[in-house]
Amino acid sequence: MTTESPAAPAKPRRPRYRATVKSVQRLTPRMVRVTFTSPELEAFGWNGPAAHIKLIFDDSGATGAPAPGAEAPRPTMRTYTPRRFDRDARELVVDFVLHGEGPASTWASQAQVGQTLTIAGPGRNYVVDPTAEWFLLAGDDTAIPAISTILEALPAGARASVYLEVVDAGEEHCIPGGPNTTIRWLHRGEDAARAGEKLEAAVRAHAFPPTRGRVYVACEAGAMRRIRRFLLTERGLPADHLVTRGYWKLGATDHPDGDYGQDV
Ligand SMILES: Cc1cc2nc3c(=O)[nH]c(=O)nc-3n(C[C@H](O)[C@H](O)[C@H](O)COP(=O)(O)OP(=O)(O)OC[C@H]3O[C@@H](n4cnc5c(N)ncnc54)[C@H](O)[C@@H]3O)c2cc1C
Repeated sequence: MTTESPAAPAKPRRPRYRATVKSVQRLTPRMVRVTFTSPELEAFGWNGPAAHIKLIFDDSGATGAPAPGAEAPRPTMRTYTPRRFDRDARELVVDFVLHGEGPASTWASQAQVGQTLTIAGPGRNYVVDPTAEWFLLAGDDTAIPAISTILEALPAGARASVYLEVVDAGEEHCIPGGPNTTIRWLHRGEDAARAGEKLEAAVRAHAFPPTRGRVYVACEAGAMRRIRRFLLTERGLPADHLVTRGYWKLGATDHPDGDYGQDV
């Protein structure tokens, strides 16, 4: 007799695309924009704002059958946001924060035209509620691509308050927004251990309208949980009016892409 539960059905493997770096642009001292191109991207299933993809930096384990009884090695991959996708041009744009150590940040800091990478996805995207009377979008530098795509998808004239936490004023760059979008930049300084403190303070101080709105938060996982707790317990917002995401976790590598803080 075995006490093991039956194996969970394997997750369907996301489609993969081998892509080449077409251009590299420094947006700010700590953010680099890489445009990938590939004829294969014609089939990329672009599904809307704040979708995510996996970038695979070492694809050696991705092909070929493992030895009998052995598990296939997991390739080195990290989660990113398609900032822009152009099916006609077969181009996909990713904005990378250069935060320091880590295979993705290290790769992006040396990215050059002609290099290749495997892209997998996309995963879940954010669904805009067109009937919401206001939007609050709060994130750190890793969420600037996602929040930008959400802003581009909001109904014309939507009322949106945006808080973006970056290291310093040199990291501020152009963000899309309509006539009723207010963007506030917050400067956290160099200490990553303080990530999310300014964001949390800004959300706490935000004047929430009494009407029905939607909140999107994406930042360091611990800070996201503090903000989520505040929104649920102190502001009393319904859980289904919030999407909160831990985009990275202080001291942890390869934080999973499905951290919505639902343990709060
Ligand atoms: C759905 C989703 C979408 C995302 N989209 C983007 C995106 O478009 N652009 C983007 O830049 N990032 C994005 N991220 C965040 C990105 O996946 C992480 O920052 C990731 O950890 C980077 O991988 P790495 O190999 O550089 O570092 P890792 O190997 O994962 O981590 C190495 C070390 O660096 C630390 N670290 C990781 N990220 C940061 C950071 N931002 N600041 C300070 N320290 C950090 C870790 O705590 C760890 O100690 C997204 C994450 C998710 C879940």
